Amino acid sequence: MTSGQYRDQFHIPQVNGKDSIYLCGNSLGLQPKKVKEYVNETLEDWASLGVEGHLHARHPWLPYHEFLTQSTARLVGANTSEVVVMNSLTVNLHLLMASFYKPTPDRYKILIESDAFPSDRYAVASQAKWHGYDEEDAIILWRPKPDQHLVDLEELEDILRVEGEQIAMIMVGGVNYYTGQYLNIPEITRLGHEHDIIVGFDLAHATGNVDMKLHDWDVDFAAWCSYKYLNSGPGSLGGIFIHDRHGEDLSVPRLSGWWGHNKTTRFRMRDEFDPLPGAEGWQLSNPPILPMAAIRASMELFDQAGIQQLRKASRGTVQYLFDALSTSEKIKILTPSNPDERGSQLSLLVEEDGRQLFDHLTKQGVIADWREPNVIRIAAAPLYNTLEDVEQFVSLVESYK
Ligand SMILES: *Cc1c(COP(=O)(O)O)cnc(C)c1O
Repeated sequence: MTSGQYRDQFHIPQVNGKDSIYLCGNSLGLQPKKVKEYVNETLEDWASLGVEGHLHARHPWLPYHEFLTQSTARLVGANTSEVVVMNSLTVNLHLLMASFYKPTPDRYKILIESDAFPSDRYAVASQAKWHGYDEEDAIILWRPKPDQHLVDLEELEDILRVEGEQIAMIMVGGVNYYTGQYLNIPEITRLGHEHDIIVGFDLAHATGNVDMKLHDWDVDFAAWCSYKYLNSGPGSLGGIFIHDRHGEDLSVPRLSGWWGHNKTTRFRMRDEFDPLPGAEGWQLSNPPILPMAAIRASMELFDQAGIQQLRKASRGTVQYLFDALSTSEKIKILTPSNPDERGSQLSLLVEEDGRQLFDHLTKQGVIADWREPNVIRIAAAPLYNTLEDVEQFVSLVESYK
């Protein structure tokens, strides 16, 4: 398969009367054309059936999240019991940390990368404070070496050698939102486990972008959103992964709600919580069906394409982009040159007149992402970005004086 093979399944935003060069799927994925049909189906069923839709909608609402489970499990390399679609990303990080961040007086620190997405940083800091620890003391930053932009495993090993016995949890981004660096998830997990540390990942920039094997890699937990590479609409629901090792252990403490209760007795409205085994047992509320309908449309495309095939197609396009932009004097690429250490995003550091270049590209129909003070982030999303998209981008950069 080639990159962009599914382009005609998406609505492409128009600029100046033609298709934009949309390289912003890392921020908000495009709308699959089927979304309207699937959302409409839900609206029609609600109109015609009312509450009966829970059981009798064409896709009944009661088990609706289950329609997404297999596809979700395939995307992240999990057993179906290990994933569920629910809530939003930061909310899910907190719910997961409620279960897996279990500080003790000797072991209470949290390790996160220094360039983490701000919400993740706020989330881990607030967890530490919530348990009565001082942020300065409890949060350990995994930083790039001086004058570098990327983190490396040697630094992590050094931190663990010194402070490993005090660290309760590692929580880092699988693909860094700023640099596009794809971290070595299995190796980080292995290193953490060597020190008896719980290891979780934020996969907002990884899911739908790279293929993973979370179960085999023995990751403890993970969470992601569905509106970036998963193309499921602004603010749409996130997903979680909980390794079966924890999910099947019903004694793992959790913040609970009725949707995590045993399905066969949920509606007997008993006082005692009887958790579902697996990730489903972390659900709180009955979920919103309308955004799930959008996710269902998106998952069908991932199922057809296959995440491994998408990743392969993406490598070629990104390599072209990387090679072409490497020759530019204006641009320094922050993202790793090793294709195994990146997904479909490249982060371009433009030290001189970066904003002017960005504005020029925007006028010419490019939709990309600007990060102050001088970084342009672009992503060639393999479902809808073609080699032609990136060729056009490169020639616009080259023609800019
Ligand atoms: C996009 C993103 C978020 C956004 O969190 P929401 O709770 O969905 O608003 C958080 N963390 C990372 C790493 C992200 O990439």
